[in-house]
Amino acid sequence: MNCLKNYPLAELTTFKIGGAARFYVKADSAVSVYEAVEFAKQQGVPFYVLGGGSNLLISDRGYDGLIIHMANKESHTATVGDSVYKTCGAGVVWDSFVSECINENLFGVECLSGIPGTVGAAPVQNIGAYGQSVESLIYEVIVVDTADGSIARFTNAECKLSYRKSLFNSEAFGKYIIVIVKFVLKRDGKLNIRYHDLEKYFQEGTREGTNVTLQDVRAAVLQIRARKGMLQLDGYSRFKCAGSFYKNPVISTGHFDQIMGVVDASPSDRNWYWAQSHSSEVKLSAAYLIEKCFGKGFRKGRVGLSPNHTLAIVNYEDATFSEVIDFAKLIEDTLYERFKVTLEREVQVLQ
Ligand SMILES: Cc1cc2nc3c(=O)[nH]c(=O)nc-3n(C[C@H](O)[C@H](O)[C@H](O)COP(=O)(O)OP(=O)(O)OC[C@H]3O[C@@H](n4cnc5c(N)ncnc54)[C@H](O)[C@@H]3O)c2cc1C
Repeated sequence: MNCLKNYPLAELTTFKIGGAARFYVKADSAVSVYEAVEFAKQQGVPFYVLGGGSNLLISDRGYDGLIIHMANKESHTATVGDSVYKTCGAGVVWDSFVSECINENLFGVECLSGIPGTVGAAPVQNIGAYGQSVESLIYEVIVVDTADGSIARFTNAECKLSYRKSLFNSEAFGKYIIVIVKFVLKRDGKLNIRYHDLEKYFQEGTREGTNVTLQDVRAAVLQIRARKGMLQLDGYSRFKCAGSFYKNPVISTGHFDQIMGVVDASPSDRNWYWAQSHSSEVKLSAAYLIEKCFGKGFRKGRVGLSPNHTLAIVNYEDATFSEVIDFAKLIEDTLYERFKVTLEREVQVLQ
């Protein structure tokens, strides 16, 4: 095991913030994950898993433990009838996987184009965008159980996937390290371009919805992301951020009625709340509420909201960890004071 000491972490994250790790190791197999965990236990230090660092804000003090950087990139495909099973190592870049599926004309992943990060992190917060989420593709997740180093397998249902949530970022946070994800995709499918940004894109463009292909949907999603500065691919200008800092809050209808009384919504305001079909709750657009309090692109010193994607908190220039956290607290406290809404962070904070 090649364990490095005092390893700088900021450049391994999309926020470009954070100090050094006391120990750092690249893990390219389940065995190396096991060895890394054993090493941390022997040293008496905590460990933390790193993928692409695109959902992570690290303290300027760094991490006084072992960073296990996932790097296993195996991948293979098996076809059974109409279903195509793709088995990928946790270190595979998510968007390479998406691109491969689309080149093979496989349906179900096209709207998730351009999400940064790795395959191994995809189930952690059940990544989603433009009306799709990885929940519908996951067949099985294979992990190393950090308690005893054994290998365990979780079916889709056992992963407890819901909106930006799974077993891995809730009740079992830190217990399992995902080493392999097995997906199931279809050769045939119906393209879902009803999500408002996508619908608008295809209405504005020369192509009408009828002849849209998988490749068109991928190109559309990449272009929409690029326009927002949210595409972390070479050749595109981008913001230093971790995508959406917050989840959209889900509240009771009673609470929603109270917000309606104070939010000062104009009749032309659209898509800022969605009734939940499976409960009597309402999901609110966190971005809408933030804009009601701060306007678009609000900035304080070296930290601000993206002018194109309000939910993204951006590190302009070289902001510190504390500056970002203070800014986030200002947003959170203000929304609580005005609407009694508690914002839940989507971004993981490591300190
Ligand atoms: C510009 C931008 C746009 C984004 N757009 C979206 C979007 O549209 N939809 C969306 O859902 N997300 C979005 N994100 C957030 C982010 O890309 C996803 O959460 C992604 O899955 C994080 O992957 P990662 O490999 O970078 O994880 P990291 O940031 O490295 O880690 C995130 C968390 O997952 C844990 N983790 C990582 N790998 C493993 C593993 N193998 N086993 C166990 N735990 C692990 C880490 O310990 C950490 O707690 C965006 C981020 C950015 C910067």
